[in-house]
Amino acid sequence: MTVHTPEPATHAWQSLIGGEWVEAADGRRFDVHDPYSGAVVGDAPALGRADARRAIEAAGAAFPAWAATPPAERQGVFLRAAALLEERRERVVAQLAREAGTTFGFASFQVGFVAGLFRQVAAVPYAPIGEVLPSDMPGALAMGLRRPVGVVAAIAPWNAALILSARSIAAPLALGNAVVLKPSEHSPYVGGLLWGELLGEAGLPAGVLNVVTHAPGEAAAIGDELVEHPLVRRINFTGSTATGRRLAEAAGRNLKRVVLELGGSNPLIVLRDAELPYAVDAATFGSFANQGQICMSARRIVVERPIAEVFLDGFARRARELKVGDPRERDTIIGPLIDAHAVATVRERIAEAVAGGARLLAGGEADGPCVQPTVLTDVPAGAALAQHETFGPVVTVTVVEDAEEALAVADATPYGLSAGILTRDLDKGFALAERLRSGIVHVNDQPVHDEPQMPFGGVKDSGWGRFGGSAAIDEFTELRWVTLQSGTRPFPF
Ligand code: ADP
Repeated sequence: MTVHTPEPATHAWQSLIGGEWVEAADGRRFDVHDPYSGAVVGDAPALGRADARRAIEAAGAAFPAWAATPPAERQGVFLRAAALLEERRERVVAQLAREAGTTFGFASFQVGFVAGLFRQVAAVPYAPIGEVLPSDMPGALAMGLRRPVGVVAAIAPWNAALILSARSIAAPLALGNAVVLKPSEHSPYVGGLLWGELLGEAGLPAGVLNVVTHAPGEAAAIGDELVEHPLVRRINFTGSTATGRRLAEAAGRNLKRVVLELGGSNPLIVLRDAELPYAVDAATFGSFANQGQICMSARRIVVERPIAEVFLDGFARRARELKVGDPRERDTIIGPLIDAHAVATVRERIAEAVAGGARLLAGGEADGPCVQPTVLTDVPAGAALAQHETFGPVVTVTVVEDAEEALAVADATPYGLSAGILTRDLDKGFALAERLRSGIVHVNDQPVHDEPQMPFGGVKDSGWGRFGGSAAIDEFTELRWVTLQSGTRPFPF
């Protein structure tokens, strides 16, 4: 049955600076489009560099009081925010479809994930316990203290807008930092302003979270200010490797620590002893969830020859059966890509691979803003599809002779975010997992999986630093050495 979620009205959003809902200093605004219908779903302030500076200064002013807030108060904010988010589940799911073309299933998952993230983060204010260190100085009590860093800049993408923006701010805030969040121009509300609203209602003081929206093509001005302003002490970025590289270069010049969660070309290895119907289900979900617009999506399936034919038959059939279309219809699996440029890029890359000799086993066409789930094999090594992350429902399959070759093929990429190894032999799977150069490996599962408490992040061109769990404490606090000298100590002169 087709069920439509309720449509909220078109929105006129404002940015959030110092607890005030504000316009850009020069008054400019920009339109936000529904990726499926193309309709304008709202408009938001097109902030510039001077506005970003105001936001950073507001965060800097709010920081000392927030850092001194008792952990229980910070905890309370996140527990209330989790409940508020769940109360608004339906509206948020509808809004995810409108701003980002997110299907009902993936949007619902994101709401559940973030409610869980907020509840876990509610314990984080109590987590930085520090240490007492043995000192060779008589009478000295030496401590390692974890303290919030000050202002954290968070730059988030649109693809899993809710999760990726929430995780960019949750632990930093819970640890006592103030934050300036820059959402993607595609998802100013579900990837940013929503948190200003919700956390404000949950009791977050004014200025602790600031959300700066901007027009398409104007991210760099705000990004430059975030990297260069001396009050910003940490930056976290989730997005493309190209943008992350530029940001890391600028951060290096400014001696700022960054957490970078970038692209992936994630392999799914299917070994000959994999359970077959399960392998087909895993490959289908891993390749096509959120129409392949997930940094962890399975992009390259590497299958051992003895099961290749039967696996490919099943996989191509499943791909052809997935419902493509309007993300508001609850049984849609493949919604639209984020914009026409994304559709054109994916189509060009499919066409280039096919012209170079690739065989199309499923899909290959676009229906308006949606690209059919596409499975290709024999893709030439030089094709863009084989070389670069392609953000869409397109997956390549390589047939190999044995597990060693599978490992070599899986590793032949500059990326290293997530990977899956399907096998019934967990010992064999673990041995391969240990050798794969990937920040995340799932044995007998596919690469798309996240939980708030896990150390999430990549190696090589997929970035550095980790979101999640105790890793976030290292990333978003300063470890300081403080001593108390009891009485006097001798000096050499
Ligand atoms: P995607 O292709 O997923 O949109 P991007 O890396 O372009 O990947 O975008 C991820 C985030 O980075 C978005 O919030 C985007 O606005 C932002 N961004 C893009 N260019 C810059 C830049 N020069 N400086 C800072 N942020 C940027």
